[in-house]
Amino acid sequence: MPTNSAKSTRSLRRKKSGCALASKDWTERKARGLRILQVCALAKIPWLIHGLSSRPGGVSELGGEKVLNLGFAEWDARENVLENRRRFQSVLHAESLTLCGLSQIHSDVVQLFNAPPSVSCRGDASTTNCPGLLLAVQTADCVPILLADPKNRAVAAVHAGWRGTLQRIVAKAIGKMQMQFGTKPAHLLAAIGPSIGGCCYEVGTEVASEFRSQFPNASVWFDELRTGDEPNPLQWLNMKPPGHQPPPQNVLLDLRKANRAQLLDAGLRAQNIVVSDLCTACRRDLLFSHRKEAGTTGRLMSVIGIKGSGVSSSPQKS
Ligand SMILES: [Zn+2]
Repeated sequence: MPTNSAKSTRSLRRKKSGCALASKDWTERKARGLRILQVCALAKIPWLIHGLSSRPGGVSELGGEKVLNLGFAEWDARENVLENRRRFQSVLHAESLTLCGLSQIHSDVVQLFNAPPSVSCRGDASTTNCPGLLLAVQTADCVPILLADPKNRAVAAVHAGWRGTLQRIVAKAIGKMQMQFGTKPAHLLAAIGPSIGGCCYEVGTEVASEFRSQFPNASVWFDELRTGDEPNPLQWLNMKPPGHQPPPQNVLLDLRKANRAQLLDAGLRAQNIVVSDLCTACRRDLLFSHRKEAGTTGRLMSVIGIKGSGVSSSPQKS
C-alpha cells in the first residue's frame, strides 16, 4: 500500500504534468513544443532510434489549434507536413536518417528495405537491418507496432487496423525478420502504440464473426456495447415471438489485445511486449482519431531505425 505522502506526491506530479503521455514502461521526450512517446526498453539500446508522435505542437492548424500532423491531407499544406516531419526527426536526433513511409492499404504486405525506396511502396509493414533508414507508419486510430531485434540489429514498423490484424500483419512482419535476419521471436522487443481502445472501437457483428473464424480465442477481444438503453433484464417482459428478434448489435473490438495475442503466439515473451493504454478516441487532446473527428484530422507517426548512414540510394526493388 502506498503511503499517504507518496500518494499525494504522485497526484501532485500528475496535476503538474497535466495530461501525461507516458505511463509505466513509457517515457516522454518534450522539445520544441513537441511531445514524443518512447519506450524505456527501446531507449536504452544505443544503436536504435525510435519514437511515437502525438498531437500537440507543429505548424499545421486544425480548428484553430497548432498540431503536429505528419501525414499529407487535403486540409493541410504539404510544406506544413514536411516541416512537422523535420521537427519530429530533429527532436529524435534522426535528421540524418531517411524517412521511409509506406502507402498504407490495410493489407498484409511487408516491405523489406535495403536502401531508401525511390518510389512510395504499398504495404502496411516494413523491416530493415540497414543503418540510416527510419521506418515509419502513420495512424489515427489503427495500431502502430514497433519491433526491435537487439541481437541481430534489425527493426520493423507495422500498421494494423482491423483488416491488417485479421490478416496477421504483425506475425508476417516477424516471419520476414526471421527469414531475412535470423531473428528469434524470443529476443524481440515490441511496442504497441496508442490506438483506438476497446472502450471506443465499435464494429459490426460481421467483423466479430470474421475474427472468430480466424482465431480460436477471438471472443476475448470483443465486448458487448452498453448504450444504457438495454432492454429490461426480466426475460418474460421482452421475449419476442420467433422471427422478431432485434437486429444484431455492434460490438467493441480491442485491437491492442488482438495484436498482443499475435505477438505471444509468434513466440515473443510477455515481458518484452509494451502496450500503451492511451486511446486515440478518448484522448483527442493528445492524439488524432479518424473516427471521432469524422475523418478530418491529422496523422500520428511511429518510427524506428538504426543509427548511422552508409546506405546507398539505389532504387528499391521489392
Ligand atoms: Zn476510448
